[in-house]
Amino acid sequence: MKLTVLGCYGPYPKAGGSCSGYLLESEETKILIDCGNGVLSKLLNYCNDLNKLDAIFISHMHPDHMSDLMVMRYAINIKQMFGKLKQPIPIYLPASPQEEYDRIQYQGAFVRNIIHEGTEISINNMKVTFKKTDHPLECYAMAFEKDNKKFVYSGDTKYFDGFIDFVKGSNLLLCEANILHKYMNENVPHLSGRQVGEIAVKADLQRVILTHFLPEISVAELLEETKEVFPHMLQIAEEGKCYFI
Ligand SMILES: [Zn+2]
Ligand SMILES: [Zn+2]
Repeated sequence: MKLTVLGCYGPYPKAGGSCSGYLLESEETKILIDCGNGVLSKLLNYCNDLNKLDAIFISHMHPDHMSDLMVMRYAINIKQMFGKLKQPIPIYLPASPQEEYDRIQYQGAFVRNIIHEGTEISINNMKVTFKKTDHPLECYAMAFEKDNKKFVYSGDTKYFDGFIDFVKGSNLLLCEANILHKYMNENVPHLSGRQVGEIAVKADLQRVILTHFLPEISVAELLEETKEVFPHMLQIAEEGKCYFI
């Protein structure tokens, strides 16, 4: 599998950047994971023909993870009018908040599929499973498995023990690390770099990529505090960069 980072900031981007968006590809499959602001423009660099996009997965309905769906609806609709897109695009997402779920649909742009913990989906032999995270909105971490490789994306979450079991056995964990540990308190609905390191050690992982950066913090410092805990392969998400699983 190949992962391309389209956007790695949240809950707003830095100048020239985008919020959450990742393109996951295998030989026969293209999947968009999250679609925050700025992601559609980046996606079209790699997948200008939306017929080739097999599915979209949305972790949760915070705008930094889904707001470009509002614009993508128009792209789908107009590409259909111009005969450039044959089918609506399948999208997998939580059904809450209801008003956001309802708002996404526009002129049949998407085929909506609701996800829950325990949902199991297979797309061209790629298996996808979900774990509900600890976040103010209903949010899911996702595991993508193909050819004995497992890739996990955290979505947004606070630290919770159940996450460790879910990420176990993954070849790569793409994990939100929104803030430095010195700014962490119980009201922050995200992970610090140090917490990501602790999760990775407890789950016995060998490789982690940090993402979902708050633009006000130093990513170098975040990397350092994670490294102090997690001694294995650690990278930061960079927009436009590919990572192989
Ligand atoms: Zn977020
Ligand atoms: Zn969120």
